[in-house]
Formats: sequence, structure tokens, C-alpha cells
Amino acid sequence: MILIRWLIISLVFLQSLQAYTLYDNRVEDKIWKSGETLLAFLQENLIPMKLYYEMDSEDEKLVGDIRFASVCHILRDADYNVIQALIPLNEELQLHIIRDNNNSYSMSVEPILYQVEDKSFLISLDDVFSKDIVSKTGNFLLSVELEQMFKKSISFRKLRLGDKVVVFYEQKRRSGKFYGTQKVVAAMIQKGSKKHYLFADKDGSYFDSFGKKTDTSSFITPCRYKRVSSRFTNKRWHPILKKYRAHHGIDYAGPTGTKINAAYAGKVIFMGTKGGYGKTIIIRHAGGYKTLYAHLNGFNNAVRGARVKTGQHIGYMGSTGRSTGPHLHFGLSLNDRWINPEIKIVLKSGLSGAKKREFLKIVKEYKGKIEKLLEES
Ligand SMILES: [Zn+2]
Repeated sequence: MILIRWLIISLVFLQSLQAYTLYDNRVEDKIWKSGETLLAFLQENLIPMKLYYEMDSEDEKLVGDIRFASVCHILRDADYNVIQALIPLNEELQLHIIRDNNNSYSMSVEPILYQVEDKSFLISLDDVFSKDIVSKTGNFLLSVELEQMFKKSISFRKLRLGDKVVVFYEQKRRSGKFYGTQKVVAAMIQKGSKKHYLFADKDGSYFDSFGKKTDTSSFITPCRYKRVSSRFTNKRWHPILKKYRAHHGIDYAGPTGTKINAAYAGKVIFMGTKGGYGKTIIIRHAGGYKTLYAHLNGFNNAVRGARVKTGQHIGYMGSTGRSTGPHLHFGLSLNDRWINPEIKIVLKSGLSGAKKREFLKIVKEYKGKIEKLLEES
């Protein structure tokens, strides 16, 4: 009897909840398919396509960059119609599609919320470098990044058991899980008695203790230009438009017809028209890097599908696609994630002036922290 009464109470309770809880709705984790477009997604889900056609050119470029295998969260009603959808655009921003009480949809770009943790560790190698880093941190990408950072100064095969590694880094976390890419702030690898250091400056470029660049494989600026009209950002609040923006590259403004050159040696894997980017070239380089050159006026057809050298002529500056004036949009990606090209191309010779003074303060602070960890070990 008591059991039946309890069941009835429970059922009434659940019914009353139904109107505004997930009881009757379903949250779905959707993996963004290779080559999938926002337009196709809207169409498939019976969401008006005008949401796409009413976007401005910057938002259109941003949604063109949705990464294959991104995890989207979709809330559906009992009839499988979308109530809300969250689609990541990069590590900082997501597209939020929402249905209101009148069954009409709206779409906006919103920040992704996450925590940033400061982390550090010291290890004495007792296996292969990458295995030791992964077993200490659980982060495979961190081991890859460290090897990239130090590959010009250290032969990883020659590291010995007992050599020491100290790393200070920032790790993003979201819903309790690792999120996005980690950012190394300072790292030291001690091989025998010699200590190799690298430190990040404010922009995230790595230099040795003296503010010199150790990575000699830096990319070059792909063209002559009058001015940089837009820099790289994953998230910027636009106070006039009152919306979030991202810009996955650097814009170099100059006259139409200016020669565009390969920023680094590689293979031309795309030469054609690409949505809002207009006439576009993509070059694949060693180490998981790709460069993208957009809004071109024309191509140097001789290099179509070919291997090119650093600085080789590939095309001409223009204003094709969604563009407000002649400029080169230059994008750089690492493992299909857009990164700031300035990290790889500027300051090749090293830091100077105020930037250097600021950097040396970072060096002093973190050398102290590294020493302290070594003493404690
Ligand atoms: Zn641009």
C-alpha cells in the first residue's frame, strides 16, 4: 500500500517536472562530420536557413572553420526538434542556436566557459621522454609540444635515464576534463649537467634565457604590405557590434596584385575558391603545419599541386570572397587548429627593447621556481 502511494506521488512529481526539465527532452553529443557545413546542419534539423544567410562575413568565415570531430551538444524535444544547439567554433567561442516560445530560432556567438589551472612538475627520466611525460601528466599533446619546442637544441634520443625535466604550464579544464591545448610557460631539460631552458613571452612565442629564438625553422612574412589590418584572436568582444568575434589569421593590407610567397617550404594541396575566403591557396608543411592564403586576385599556376620552397611566388593579393578591400588573409594551423602566425614569424632574430625587459622578468621568476623544484627533489 505504502509502495503504491509512493509510486503515485512519484509519478505526479515527474509529470509536474516534465514541462521544464530534461525528463522528456534528450541531450545528444553530436560529432561534427568531415566536410559538414552549418547550412547542411540547419537543413537537416529543419532550422530556417536564413540564420545562415543573415550572418555577416566575419561570422560566416568563423562557421566555415568548424573543426571536423568537434563535439556539439544538442537538446531536442520529444519530436526530435532542436531546442538548443552548442557548436564549438574554436577553443574560446561557440555557436549557440536556440528556439524561443514562439518556435522561432536565433543564433549567436558566445564564449565557452572553462577553468585555467597552473600546473608544474619535475621528473627524472626513467623511460622514453614522451612516455615519462604522459605517465606524469596524462597529456600526450604536452609531450609533443615539448619535443617540438626543444627539437633544435636537444637530441631526444640522446637523453639518459636520470636526466631531469621541469615544466610550468597552464591547462584548461571543462566539466572536469582536459580541454583545448595546454600552454607551456617555462620548461627546462637538464641533459647531464647542462640545462636547456625555454620561456614563453606574453604573446606565447618561445625564447631561450637571453630572449633569442632557438627555433630556426621560422616562417617568413608571405608578402610586402602597407599595414597589418587585423591580428589573430580566438575571442574578442566587439563593443560597437556588441558581439564576440574571432579572427583566425593575420590580414596584410596592400595593393591588388602584390606578389604572395610561400611562408615556408611545403606542398600546395589546394588552389581554388573556398567560400568566404575567395581564391585560396593551402600549403602543407612538415610537422603538422598548414598555411592558408585567402582573398587572392590570382594564382601562380606553375606551382599548382607542386612542392614549393620558402619564399617561392604562389599568387597575387586581391579582394575575392567576403572581403572589404585588397588584403591577404594569412592563416596558420597546427594539427588542423588555427594558431597565431606571429608566433612563428616575428622576432626571428630575438627580443629587444621593452619586450625584452619584460621577458627577462619572466625568465628570472621562472628560473627561481625551477631551481626551487630541483632543490626540493
Ligand atoms: Zn582575415
